[in-house]
Amino acid sequence: MNTNTKTAPKPKTATYKKVLEKKAEEVRRSMSAQKAAQVVSRLDVPSDEGDLSQQHHEEWIFLNRNSIDMKLLREISDALHRIDLGQYGVCLECEEPISTKRLDALPWARFCVTCQEAIAARIAAGEMENEYQEADR
Ligand SMILES: [Zn+2]
Repeated sequence: MNTNTKTAPKPKTATYKKVLEKKAEEVRRSMSAQKAAQVVSRLDVPSDEGDLSQQHHEEWIFLNRNSIDMKLLREISDALHRIDLGQYGVCLECEEPISTKRLDALPWARFCVTCQEAIAARIAAGEMENEYQEADR
């Protein structure tokens, strides 16, 4: 039966894993919903230049939004990977534990608050790719 319950190393991690998996599912669902909406809007063939540029604009928003979702999905899958490796909840920069409060708000957080702020400042100064800026949703 449940003989392993006592030896389970980090029950908290299991909770985050569930939250992360649920969030990934949500993002995937919202992405496919957007795709479906996009296909429907394509059925209205643009009749003149004005409609055409409107269509391009919507496409741009769609792609842009999708890349934000893709980024979030990647961060979530990285976090799940860290759970599997037993490295979850540790700052990738200074290797200090990330506070529970922060993980509760942002389960895919890669850095502690201090490091994240330092990184944000470096991005703002143009010293770093904003690849390292976290998705805040
Ligand atoms: Zn740190």
